[in-house]
Amino acid sequence: MMLYAWVDGVSRPPLSKGERTTCRDCGGLLTSVVPVENVRHWRHKAGDCDSWSEPEGPWHLGWKEQFDLECREIGLVDALTGERHRADVLCGAGTPQATVLELQHSSISADEQRSRENFYQQAHRMFWLVHIHSEANFNGYSFGFSLDFGSRPVVLEGHTYGVMRWMGRSKQFIEKWKRAKAHVFFDYQGHVFYLASESVSLRLGGPFKKGEFALCVLTHEQFMQAVKQRDFSTLRPNG
Ligand SMILES: [Zn+2]
Repeated sequence: MMLYAWVDGVSRPPLSKGERTTCRDCGGLLTSVVPVENVRHWRHKAGDCDSWSEPEGPWHLGWKEQFDLECREIGLVDALTGERHRADVLCGAGTPQATVLELQHSSISADEQRSRENFYQQAHRMFWLVHIHSEANFNGYSFGFSLDFGSRPVVLEGHTYGVMRWMGRSKQFIEKWKRAKAHVFFDYQGHVFYLASESVSLRLGGPFKKGEFALCVLTHEQFMQAVKQRDFSTLRPNG
């Protein structure tokens, strides 16, 4: 979904019903959508130029608003194929540390996950922020029950990780994110957790068995700094 569009030189959400403007990425006509219940956004009259566009709500808006306007919803094009997608957040564009942050509220298949990683990681470091909630499935409950920082704590580069077991019946969710090629963060009840990547897991005593995974807790500030490339040395590019 597109929350921001350029109107008279300003990137912003719609102010009222009936507003129109042009998509900077594809040149298509955009019309305003001002729902009573959900966030205001723009709709492509002829279909979204980003085929991965998904419904968004207050969770997406809340996170996008944490970043400067010029970092939100950045259109990127694959130079070879012409494929076009909008990064939810892109920090440090044009620098070697440029980081794409994808905000994931709905569940996606491993195939979708991989194709987005392939696209964004061509020229950027990539982070996922996965919203863990219980609206459509039981992952939220399973995650809450799984949290265990006491049984197997491991310190790496100043961060204390807990190695824990997924308590849900299906391990598909955690296994999919464990195998991500981008760094994965979970947003659970307002707390941010970093999920040890395959390479970080090795340094924590892994590889971990099926259903086992390691998390560390980040403050909101540490997470923001990680995205903006100022801290969290584990997440240096190639780290
Ligand atoms: Zn467009």
